[in-house]
Amino acid sequence: HEVHLVYTRLRTEERMLADALRARGFGVRTHADSELVLPLSRERWQDGGPVLMRSMSFTRARYLASILEVKGSRVLNTAQCIATCGDKALTTLALARAEVPIPWAFVGFEEEACVAQMQERGFPVVTKPVLGSWGRMVARVDGVHAAEGMMSMRFEMGGAQDHVALVQQYIDKPGYDLRVYVIGKAVGGMRRRSEHWVTNTARGAVPERYEVPESHARLAEQAARAVGGELVAVDLLETRTGEVMVNEINHCVEFARSIEFTGIPLPELMADYVRETLR
Ligand code: ADP
Ligand code: ZN
Ligand code: MG
Repeated sequence: HEVHLVYTRLRTEERMLADALRARGFGVRTHADSELVLPLSRERWQDGGPVLMRSMSFTRARYLASILEVKGSRVLNTAQCIATCGDKALTTLALARAEVPIPWAFVGFEEEACVAQMQERGFPVVTKPVLGSWGRMVARVDGVHAAEGMMSMRFEMGGAQDHVALVQQYIDKPGYDLRVYVIGKAVGGMRRRSEHWVTNTARGAVPERYEVPESHARLAEQAARAVGGELVAVDLLETRTGEVMVNEINHCVEFARSIEFTGIPLPELMADYVRETLR
């Protein structure tokens, strides 16, 4: 079998994944998403083999996965999973539906209504773009004046698709958040420690090894199931009193900055999962 790896850039992750697949006897064909122009039809793509979707662009990943599934390819993660995880409002909704513990959250469409709702809930709150990653534009709002400014920016900048505010309960974390990798099942995790309340490694948080307790593993697996995630990174927020909630789920698992600290062989585990699903 050949595995098709769709990428935006061949980063460390994509190279390690390709190596792990080859080590298991797969042929690997890489495809730059920038070069793909796919007919919208049921016509088979390439040899019809499985596709590992590693596009860094949500737009490209979502459309390509949808198209390739119609063509009969097995895409990992599925188009449905990508569509849900790529949008934080839809992720939160899927988690709510499955009764997974989450920070309270709401969505609104105009400044006044959103600010009023924030005041009712009480500050601080967090607001972030529904589409986004690496901690970009995640904002903590400590009071009504910041809220007004944030909401006027949300609704006056960008295009129609940006004009939705996602507002979340602010979780007072104990200096870190948690990430559990679910590769078919929970396989390990990391703690991301930072002085800053935004704990993305892309923003300088320090990754640490973390022995995932059984309860966190089950929670992460429940969250992954809720979004149809097969190869995902589930982010958990822990309160200072030890309560744990799911914040978001990442469908394109990154590990270049953390693998040396966690020691979790993610590329090998992902390649094993691909092999198992093809049996
Ligand atoms: P991204 O997709 O950009 O990583 P996240 O929702 O994961 O967006 O937010 C980035 C980081 O900001 C999280 O890892 C966490 O450290 C912090 N954060 C996000 N939302 C909250 C929240 N509601 N309460 C406390 N910290 C949060
Ligand atoms: Zn994310
Ligand atoms: Mg995150």
